[in-house]
Formats: sequence, C-alpha cells, structure tokens
Amino acid sequence: LELKPFQLLSDLMERGIFASMNQTIEEDIAAKVAEAHGFELEIRHRGGSADSGDSKKKKEQEDESALLEPRPPVVCILGHVDHGKTTLLDTIRKAKVVDDEFGGITQHIGAYQVEASGEPLSFLDTPGHAAFSRMRERGASTTDIAVLVVAADDGFKPQTDEALKFAKKAGVSLIVAINKIDAKGANIDRVKTQMQERGIAPEDWGGEVITVPVSALKGEGIDQLLEMIRLQSEIMELKAVPKGKSSGVIIESQIEQGRGPTATILVKKGKLKVGDALVCGTASCKVKAMHDDLGKAVKEAGPSTPVKVIGWSDAPESGSTYETVKNEREAKRVAEETLESRKKKEEEDRLAAKSAGSNLDDLFSAIESTRKTNFNVILKADVHGSLEALTGMLQELPSDQVELKVVGKGVGMITKKDVELAGASDATIVGFNVRMENGVQGHAKHLDVRILQDNIIYQLIDIIRESMAELLEPEL
Ligand code: GDP
Repeated sequence: LELKPFQLLSDLMERGIFASMNQTIEEDIAAKVAEAHGFELEIRHRGGSADSGDSKKKKEQEDESALLEPRPPVVCILGHVDHGKTTLLDTIRKAKVVDDEFGGITQHIGAYQVEASGEPLSFLDTPGHAAFSRMRERGASTTDIAVLVVAADDGFKPQTDEALKFAKKAGVSLIVAINKIDAKGANIDRVKTQMQERGIAPEDWGGEVITVPVSALKGEGIDQLLEMIRLQSEIMELKAVPKGKSSGVIIESQIEQGRGPTATILVKKGKLKVGDALVCGTASCKVKAMHDDLGKAVKEAGPSTPVKVIGWSDAPESGSTYETVKNEREAKRVAEETLESRKKKEEEDRLAAKSAGSNLDDLFSAIESTRKTNFNVILKADVHGSLEALTGMLQELPSDQVELKVVGKGVGMITKKDVELAGASDATIVGFNVRMENGVQGHAKHLDVRILQDNIIYQLIDIIRESMAELLEPEL
C-alpha cells in the first residue's frame, strides 16, 4: 500500500482494531483498508494437493458459502451534534417497535431491531455525544449502512464532514437523511448542493446517494427512510451463515448491580444460544441469560441480532470480537492465555522502549521525552466505551512539555484501591460519570491524591488540560 507502518496501524485503529506490527488481520478488514488506499485485495489460495491445509480451508469456505442466508443490515446514524441523531433513533424505534408488549419500557442496550416491510433492520444506538468520535468510528466499522443526518436548517458542519470521512473509510453504504425539514429556515436544496460539492450528489440530482428528507421530531419521512434502508440492504445482498458456533462484536459492556458484567453483542455469524461458552479477549462467559432490546428474555440470536448477554467473568472491551468455544473450561483457559500473552507483550514493549534509540527518529523522541514532565493518570469511567473514548481523547491532547501517561484504567466507581495505586504511582485519578466508594475522599486527602471528576467529557478534558498546565507553572 506504500504506507509507513505507523500510518497503517493508525488506519486500523480508526477502524477499532488495535493491531501490532506483526498481527494477522481479517480478510474483510484487509480488503477495506486496501480499498481506502485505492487498491483492490485479491486473495489467491494455492490449488492442488501440495498444500492440504489450503485446500481444506478452501473446501471449508465452499461449504460455508453454501450455507449462507440473507441477514438484516446493521445501520448506524452519524452526523453533527444537535442535527437530530438521538431524536431520529428514538422516533424510528417508537414508530416501529410494538412497545406496549412490555409496558412500553424500552431498554437501551446499544442497539435495537425494527421492521420495515416485514424485514428486520438493526440499528446501532451508540451515545450521540459529539465527543465520542472514537465510538462513532467503531460504529462505522461494524456497520453495513450509515445514515448521515444533516439538519436542513444548518447544512454540513465539521462533524458531518468528519462522519462522512469515517463512512467512506469504512467502506459502508451511505444514505443521507436531511432532517428538520419542518424547521424555520430549512433549505433542502442547500444541503443537496453541499452534497454535490462533496462528491456525493443525491440520486434525484443525477448522483448515486439515496437522500431522504425527514422530520425526526414530527415523524415525517421515517417510513420512507426505513424503506430506502431496506432496499439498499437488498441490493447489497448481505449474507451470513445462521447456524453453528457464533462469533460477533461487543457493542457495549458494563458492570450492572445484581447482574455483574453484561455485554451487548451483535452476532455476525452462527447462532448464539443460552449455555454457550464464549471468549472475548481476557473475558470469558457462560451465557446465563440473554435479553433483547425490549428486555425480553431470548434463548438464541442469529446474525445481525443485538442481545444483551449475562454471565461474563469480566466486562469485555467494546468493539472487540468474541468467539464461541467448546465449553466453559476452554473459555477460561483461552481468556487466561490471552491475559498472559498480553502481559508478556507489555513487558516486551516496555523493554523494547527502554532499549530504543536505534534510529534517528527514536533518538530524537527519546531526547524530547526526557525534557517532558510526566502527568500520570488513572482513568475510571461508567462503561467501556466511554473509557476508551476518554483514553483516546487524552492521548490526543497536545503538549510539548507535559507527557500524559495512563498508568491504570477501569470501569466502575472510584475505589480506595485506585487511591492507593494513585498514591504509589504519583498519579491523578480521573473519573468520568462515576461515583466514589465510601471513604475515598478522606483516603485521597490522606495520601495526597488528586481526584478530577465530571460527567461532561468536554469539561473533564478542560479540567485535565488545566491541571497539566499547572504543572508547568513555576513554583513560588
Ligand atoms: P443529536 O445531538 O444529533 O443527537 O440531536 P438531538 O436528537 O438531541 O436533537 C437536537 C435538537 O434538535 C433537539 O432539540 C430536537 O428536539 C431537535 N430536533 C431533532 N429533530 C428535529 C426535527 O426533525 N425538527 C425540528 N424542528 N427539531 C428537531
């Protein structure tokens, strides 16, 4: 691809894949990366009996393709803040879900399914907060169709362009929903002109992008939008094997009182069943129970179906993939092995970093880093997704003189243990949308540990930025 390794790694990172230099990536990801850089990936399997492994694999693939069946599309909604993403997600859900079935209590599990002309469509219902760009990128990489919301009274904005970029990069189909057509100052033609300027001309202007004017607030155009999504997915001929061991993606995970760690899973292939043994990174699971987005208990889930799964040993990382294994023991073993190898790798990386300096770039950055003041932090957040978003945003905070180092992070409330760790590593605790365990404040005072907290991510980042700046002020 004529890319420097770090460019490729950051490209993958934007797709939610945190790969190392010599890691194997999946074929479809490789194809998408290649395409994003103007290449087409062709995979040639060696024929003949010389390599029985390859021919076996080919046979398996052939067997598998015979079992493929149509699957629902996975749709995500992207766009600028306040352009109506949340309202649109709510309106679609309300319009299409028979919600009196469960007393109208809909559960936000990170994704939901609705029907259009009798066909199911799955929507990712990720937090619409503007700051969670990382999650939106990830949303785009598990998605087949992205609906780009543009407010008719405001037009394209920086985040609209950013979202468009993600969607293009992830190689997903694009549908534009021009929202707020009921609002004063709404100008549909202006949005269409802006689309044309960006090389995504609408269909009715001779381009290729399906464009639907809607009012999420008034419920106008929603049926048409859903119908367009359904048609688009039909054209895409989305398929998956609906039987056998399942695998898929973690949409979000959290630790719930009384339930322990739970995770919303989107099945990509196979059939997920109660009683299955799963493994995802360092977390394992014996599926105790599953619930759909209406809180209804379900026994199994097929491709593109979101379900909340109970029975995890630990909250798995959102965006990562899970696999089904033989039994619970096997799941635990694989999870432990992963933990061990991660630890080993961290240690190797640490040693490698120590002996760095073999080339000029490393040398310069080593010199540079010795000049920096360290700002160690321990991050705590409510859910995995926000923890990752926060980590990402902090790593992007520019500073020539202060180096921010994440020395620990986790999901859940701030505990005394965190305070002790912070005391030992001279770190500041940063909490996003979390509470403190009883007695934490006193303990922190005693150990001279600072705790920075906020429920609004932008404000939290500002507070951290200020604290970093304080480090540079000369002591009087
Ligand atoms: P998000 O930040 O993209 O999730 O946007 P929200 O869904 O929170 O909407 C932002 C504001 O726009 C809210 O005050 C909504 O009531 C309003 N809004 C959303 N859709 C429409 C619409 O179709 N018409 C009008 N007039 N207002 C809307």
